Amino acid sequence: MKDDSQNRTRADALKQIVLLPALAAALAGGALPAVAADNKKQFKYQDKPGKNGEKCSTCSLFKPPSSCSVVTGKISPNGWCVAWSKK
Ligand code: SF4
Repeated sequence: MKDDSQNRTRADALKQIVLLPALAAALAGGALPAVAADNKKQFKYQDKPGKNGEKCSTCSLFKPPSSCSVVTGKISPNGWCVAWSKK
């Protein structure tokens, strides 16, 4: 009985020795998924062109095929937001 509880304690200690540095490395390296804030509302993003035909594909902040330097997440090349800036 005593040996079993000692083995369990030793096993638990070994797990901590192995897991803690791995967790620390993951945190330091940014390997854990970050919760990216959705800022589409903040920039009043819409999936259709803005006034005067302004759209993401003609914006200097557009990153083909469907990303943006300031608005998070997937965007449409035909979308628009208040940060639109002519290429
Ligand atoms: S800044 Fe706005 S308009 Fe320009 S690419 Fe990003 S979402 Fe589209």
